[in-house]
Amino acid sequence: MGTWGPNSFENDTAADFVEELEGSSDLQGLLDSIEYEQDFEAPLAEQIIAAADCVAIMLDRPGPETQRATAKKIAKFGKPAPELVDAAKNGVSRVLMGGELLDLWAEAGASDFNAAITGLMERLNPEITYEPHELVDPAQLTLPCMFCDKPVNPENLLELAVHINSKAVSSTTQIRPCHLVCLNKALHPKHLIQYWEYTDEDIESLLARMDS
Ligand SMILES: [Zn+2]
Repeated sequence: MGTWGPNSFENDTAADFVEELEGSSDLQGLLDSIEYEQDFEAPLAEQIIAAADCVAIMLDRPGPETQRATAKKIAKFGKPAPELVDAAKNGVSRVLMGGELLDLWAEAGASDFNAAITGLMERLNPEITYEPHELVDPAQLTLPCMFCDKPVNPENLLELAVHINSKAVSSTTQIRPCHLVCLNKALHPKHLIQYWEYTDEDIESLLARMDS
């Protein structure tokens, strides 16, 4: 995966960083630890941008492509202290002084990254009017049914395993999602696939009846 977009949380480093965050002191700790003279590698720069964006979320100014779960988690840290807002601004400023991340974006074409950073700066400046961004939810993984090609709800995903045993080719098993109804429509009624769900109570009562 690595980097999948120009926004603050659209890379693995930022995603891991947010995952491990426990409170605003983690943000302050990272941002205060920056040394202006140090060699600035891309992951550190990505962490600093993510930390600064967390501060923007604490200001109730989340950016584009921010996942609802991230915004919810960070908002619980409360309103940021003025020192934290300052540290976030300084952190972004330090990232923009140069380093590996900027070189990588310059090579790849930096306009989207530059736009994302500009947006972050604006969101860290409460005097600039904030245009709300819609929070996003991770795309639901939907797979097409092998019979009708319409999506199968992941909640009740049924997978059909087709085992091909042939002398000509080595045997393979192919697993395909499908709707139970689509599968059964294709079968002789004598062979339709039965699927029954039992609750724990059902099983208990069944066992009790078997015992008696
Ligand atoms: Zn189907």
